[in-house]
Amino acid sequence: MIEATQSKSPSLAAGSPFELRVNLGQDVPESDVRTALANGDMGFLHSFTTGSTVDGPGVRVVAWTAGCHWRCLYCHNPDTWTMTNGIPVTLCKATEELRKYRSGLKIMSGGFTLSGGEPLMQDRFAVKLLTAAHGMGIHTAVETNGSLGGRITDAELEKIDLVLLGIKTWDPERHRRLTGMEIDPLLNFARRLATRRKPVWVRFVLVPGLTDDANDIAQIAKFTASLGNVERVEVLPFHQMGRFKWKALKLSYLLDDVQPPSSGALEHACAQFRAEGLAAY
Ligand code: SF4
Repeated sequence: MIEATQSKSPSLAAGSPFELRVNLGQDVPESDVRTALANGDMGFLHSFTTGSTVDGPGVRVVAWTAGCHWRCLYCHNPDTWTMTNGIPVTLCKATEELRKYRSGLKIMSGGFTLSGGEPLMQDRFAVKLLTAAHGMGIHTAVETNGSLGGRITDAELEKIDLVLLGIKTWDPERHRRLTGMEIDPLLNFARRLATRRKPVWVRFVLVPGLTDDANDIAQIAKFTASLGNVERVEVLPFHQMGRFKWKALKLSYLLDDVQPPSSGALEHACAQFRAEGLAAY
């Protein structure tokens, strides 16, 4: 798998991104972190998985970046919030590793997805890695909360074939409570992607009591349909698989008593998106 720059670091290979990983990049001097962020020649990755069928079309290699400035109450990977929790990996090593999968990914109509954390926290590394993958003829996708879309230029966007865009809620105040951040930058990025006719899959997590307000979902559906470039909407059920990470990191977890949504609630949310003419799953 991708070789970390630190000899004692564990392998990036992960059975799933639900593995708890902390402090793996803590020995990297802060000046090196700053340089890496500025030039993108090194990135911090939480993990790296192959054979994913749920992170874009076909079978995919997924690299999960470390670092996210949002604080979603239902985040299932809070260990990705801190960049230095990730394993430092050179761009060169990451590119070499992707090259090994190039032929297989094409045969399986798949590609490479950069997810996180928030990949655009490391925008230079993200752009360079996605550009390298694109240059190898690999289909590229980035999963993002959209708030840092302004960091990438239109020319750089051309190297990204698909954006997996998370929309958490519609109401600005609820968005603040749910994520700790404003919704406007995300909506602006969504509109920009629409203007550029960039294919987008919207991801919406259904959390009982938090994101299941029917009027709110209707507003998201209306907005999403108005964009004209959204190929599908994925309605994802809230789950408790990340709870142990909150506890291990001694973070205050507010959703202990929240149950996953019922299949009926999921279907109802999908139906709201379909009512606007969207393909929803
Ligand atoms: S944007 Fe994603 S990684 Fe960041 S806190 Fe929210 S759910 Fe977690």
